[in-house]
Amino acid sequence: TRSRAKLQYNLSVEGNSLGQLTISRKTRFAEEELERVEQLISLLVYPLSNAFKYREAIQSAFRDPLTGLNNRAMLQQTLERESQLSNRHGDDFSLVMIDVDKFKQVNDQYGHQAGDAVLTQIADIMREYGRGTDMLFRFAGDEFVITLSKTDRQGAKLLANRIREAVEQQAFTYKGHQLPASISMGVASLRQGESTDELFARADNALYAAKNKGRNCVCCDATLVE
Ligand code: GH3
Ligand code: MG
Repeated sequence: TRSRAKLQYNLSVEGNSLGQLTISRKTRFAEEELERVEQLISLLVYPLSNAFKYREAIQSAFRDPLTGLNNRAMLQQTLERESQLSNRHGDDFSLVMIDVDKFKQVNDQYGHQAGDAVLTQIADIMREYGRGTDMLFRFAGDEFVITLSKTDRQGAKLLANRIREAVEQQAFTYKGHQLPASISMGVASLRQGESTDELFARADNALYAAKNKGRNCVCCDATLVE
């Protein structure tokens, strides 16, 4: 649409909308100017569309499609970066590992889609409780990870327990069915000079301990009974 001094274009490529471009000024546009502007816009749309596609590809490479959380590839990068930062500055850095309890039963009893609904709702709870600096990941199947910068083991345990309680209290439903769900969690904090693999293994051991303790609980380090 064209009014006197304002031009408005809906940009699209092959039926995909790229957004709206508005150009305005105090004085009217002359006919040659309009032609020139439209010529320039026609040069703009394809590179713009490619830039959008590129951004989307980069984003989806690091995102889990089901939950919208970061994926395992992103976790790898984050762990390297955060542990380097933490070792350099002496800041605390903690890792929380989460695994849904008896999740196979949910799938078996109510179907895979019901299971997916539970995973999605757990991810939502994690988003609700995580702070801006915490990063959330779906690591695999029914396993999630939270990385916490500048947070010691006590702080990580506190957050873990809040999320655990929220999951415990959430009424998970799928197509009218009540779905039981709880999570077990393992917490570990980076030791000076420790590798990310070692940190990860300690958090994983703690998670294993939480499962052994009877599930629906948080353990810090496999050696620590708590
Ligand atoms: P535990 O308390 O010991 O963790 O018992 P569990 O049944 O949860 O055992 P485990 O964690 O080993 O099982 C994970 C199950 O998660 C196995 C698989 O059927 C299911 N699963 C993995 N990925 C998905 C998914 O994307 N969607 C659904 N619905 N289920 C999944
Ligand atoms: Mg499980």
